[in-house]
Amino acid sequence: MIELAGNILEGGGQILRNATALSCILGKPIKITDIRANRSKPGLRPQHLCGIQLLGDMSHAKLSGDQVNSCVVELQPSGQVHGGIYSKEVGTAGSLVLLLQSSLPVALFSDQACDLTLGGGTNAESAPPIDYFTTVFLPIAQQIGLRVDCQLLKRGFYPKGGGKVRVCIEPIKCLKPIVLLDRGEIIKVEGISYVSGQLPVKVAQQSAAAASKHLQKHLPKSVSISVAARYESASQATATGSGVFLAAYTTTGCIFGGTSIGKRGKAAEQVAREAADELLVAVQQLGCVDEHLQDQLIIFMALASGQSKVRCGPLTLHTETAIHIAKKLTGVEFEIAPQEDGTVVISCDGIAFQNSHL
Ligand code: AMP
Repeated sequence: MIELAGNILEGGGQILRNATALSCILGKPIKITDIRANRSKPGLRPQHLCGIQLLGDMSHAKLSGDQVNSCVVELQPSGQVHGGIYSKEVGTAGSLVLLLQSSLPVALFSDQACDLTLGGGTNAESAPPIDYFTTVFLPIAQQIGLRVDCQLLKRGFYPKGGGKVRVCIEPIKCLKPIVLLDRGEIIKVEGISYVSGQLPVKVAQQSAAAASKHLQKHLPKSVSISVAARYESASQATATGSGVFLAAYTTTGCIFGGTSIGKRGKAAEQVAREAADELLVAVQQLGCVDEHLQDQLIIFMALASGQSKVRCGPLTLHTETAIHIAKKLTGVEFEIAPQEDGTVVISCDGIAFQNSHL
């Protein structure tokens, strides 16, 4: 059994998600201690527990320590991943997109397609919003062979959650390497500013206008900017919520995200400004991925066949953590090469993991 310290580096939920996903894919039993020790409420929160249970179901694994607040978990996977229909509900506003962060890589190596219906928060703090998953992550992941269909059925926000997505994932024989070295020029920014429940559409319009104005000030005139304002009806969102999501596209196919979630007392302009500033940081760093995609691609680079190379901005602690876990479980060495322009190129020769069912 491989023992992993959950308090190392970032010391958050991502250690758990990457470690459990790789354990199920590779058929290697793991024990994780000190889970989420660096977070204000350490141990498993409902979202983490739900993710582990989903992986347990998919890989017919034996689990222990699978309770809320548990700080030690053992997972003994069967070595086989079984596709089919799965349904999981976080039961809180915990991010359902983070359930996908661990279950999607596992589903790729299953015996048949996985049809996942997941409930929880779709737009949660400190997690990828569903818009990021569909707009930034999936198009880039398609380049390495992923075939995933994601339908957003309902948005769910803090504190109630209740959002829903249906995600269909086709199995794959082997992942292609990820090569993202040429940033190109930014050509357009597209985004949405949404409100639901008791918030009037006017709030969404104010955020959309403020985001466009802020971006226009900082981006070249040649960049087209369009931010749509939307009221999500009761069939599209569970309760009152708001947020802004922006995506920037380059001539070479790179995509960057900028997110902000609205909350009581936060002005529409501030929500807009936060999302726009996050996007502008990614654009100014001259990498091919933003600070979040950086860590989210590591697991795929480790499993792919051939050499992956990704140019990014300064390495985040989440990325260092993802590299640490990928190294421990796959044995892959990552090379980190700082460049003169301030970017960093992460490269590795993946283990060319093959789906034994296909
Ligand atoms: P952890 O903090 O360990 O639970 O990991 C959080 C995960 O969510 C990491 O993979 C982050 O890259 C990702 N994440 C957090 N905020 C965002 C965001 N605004 N957009 C995209 N991904 C995010």
